[in-house]
Amino acid sequence: MQETKRLVEKDPPLKKDDLIVITGAGGFIAGNLALHFKKRGFTNIRAVDKKPLYEWYLHVPGAQNLSLDVSREDNCRRVCEGAVEVYNLAADMGGMGFIERFRVECLRSVLINTHMVEAAYQAGARRYFFSSSACAYNTLLQQDPKVRALKESDAYPAMAERGYGWEKLFSEMVCQEYWQERGLKTAIARFHNVYGPHGTWDGGREKAPAALCRKVIEAIDTGSKEITLWGSGEQTRSFMYIADCMDGIDKIMHCDELIATPINLGSSEMVSINELLSKIEKIAGVKMHRKYDLDAPLGVAGRNSDNTFIKKVLKWEPSTKLDKGLAETYAWIKEQYARRKAGKRVGIG
Ligand code: NAD
Repeated sequence: MQETKRLVEKDPPLKKDDLIVITGAGGFIAGNLALHFKKRGFTNIRAVDKKPLYEWYLHVPGAQNLSLDVSREDNCRRVCEGAVEVYNLAADMGGMGFIERFRVECLRSVLINTHMVEAAYQAGARRYFFSSSACAYNTLLQQDPKVRALKESDAYPAMAERGYGWEKLFSEMVCQEYWQERGLKTAIARFHNVYGPHGTWDGGREKAPAALCRKVIEAIDTGSKEITLWGSGEQTRSFMYIADCMDGIDKIMHCDELIATPINLGSSEMVSINELLSKIEKIAGVKMHRKYDLDAPLGVAGRNSDNTFIKKVLKWEPSTKLDKGLAETYAWIKEQYARRKAGKRVGIG
């Protein structure tokens, strides 16, 4: 059935002391987002995560930090009270090793978005952001490392990544209907592999860039000079630097043309995992002996972000070169590794 388009009423200007709620803020992206808004001069930030505070990667000075589980409806109501904008980035997630092994945990994140969007609506929030993923795309279109980049319409007909991807696809639809039926302005970004400092780098939930940086640092430290890659190393991906992700979230959330419209937020610089390792080796100034674990979890063979739509609407796309972003990430993980070795506290996920 054809939808009738809602008229978009103009928002009053966002005031610096309007309450901004960010969930998942003990984690990588949402922690950086709280910092992003702090740097933009916002003074009323409520950061929420189920992890105990001492495990958060970032503590933003002046923010109200709450350790609460937002898969529970009562907590979501508390979290959204008084909110003007809500950014929901909480999810049980990790790299391929995690999302292939723990599909039930990934699917249960549906509770988080379901309760958060309702609580935001009940609280009268003006806008609601949902972090979706490229894993929502049809996996049948991603069976070749030389894949064509994915455009927004490639999510349907649906054949998302089992578990994690289906949860994202369903939650996207929930956000779309909250706009269509109830008039809550929702924003939906499909992130493609985000990396950078203050992310998970050890413990099983880390993604390829952080995992490879850590493995290289470990190999140098132990003198082994050997590294095991998951799969043949020929699988391809694109990786978006965290600073681009911040700018993208902010722009997408505040664009009326993008209300309830899923959009790619990712880099279009595609590399194979072998090429990614070569870049890290160059930064570290080493050459590793490569071994390949062909039984390890792999995910799709190839994936890249088609940025035609975002460039058209926002006149912008993530543009930090992988070489630059990796150098920053490597330096941060090296520092974390040294801290841990010295018996100091570090966040790993
Ligand atoms: P992350 O694991 O670092 O952060 C997620 C945070 O959510 C964690 O700190 C976790 O404790 C918290 N959380 C989980 N369940 C919760 C609950 N019930 N209540 C409160 N907090 C809860 O992950 P991230 O990389 O920062 O990802 C943020 C969002 O972006 C997620 O929705 C993720 O699915 C999405 N995403 C990330 C990537 C990426 O490459 N990192 C790619 C696509 C989509």
